[in-house]
Amino acid sequence: MEKTYLMIKPDGVQRGLIGRIVARLEDKGFKLVAAKLIKVTEEQAKKHYAEHEGKDFFPELVGFITSGPVFAMVWEGDDVVALSRLLIGKTKVGEALPGTIRGDFASHTPLNLIHGSDSPESAAREIANFFAPDELADYNKDIAVWM
Ligand code: ADP
Ligand code: MG
Repeated sequence: MEKTYLMIKPDGVQRGLIGRIVARLEDKGFKLVAAKLIKVTEEQAKKHYAEHEGKDFFPELVGFITSGPVFAMVWEGDDVVALSRLLIGKTKVGEALPGTIRGDFASHTPLNLIHGSDSPESAAREIANFFAPDELADYNKDIAVWM
């Protein structure tokens, strides 16, 4: 099953949106396999955003993501990388459609509430940056736990 790394950024945690964002992902039918509230280190942040190194907004981005706790998650599902990015919405708030997480809750571009991996390869790299393998739960969501 495909996995993705989703992270509610400091603005989402600070605004008390963890529950509502997680509810949308659960409603969609994705399976939560790991989650924790953590403070991202400078080293993790630079690794996570390595593709943006050298861009003018890179220092601001690293500063933002390390500014307060984030809610780090791993979700599983068919095509979960692409489908979760559809749910999240476009990067720029002016392009994020209503009905998406960013479209409904974000109003200022760098503060767009949530990160989602852009490919299964990025997801594998990002998950390894924030989770140890034994932190991922292995369970069957479709079968009652007592069976
Ligand atoms: P996404 O998060 O949608 O995958 P990117 O990978 O392009 O978007 O960018 C990573 C993050 O960097 C964005 O979510 C946003 O917080 C920030 N960012 C992107 N572009 C800009 C910009 N031009 N100015 C400031 N911050 C930006
Ligand atoms: Mg990205």
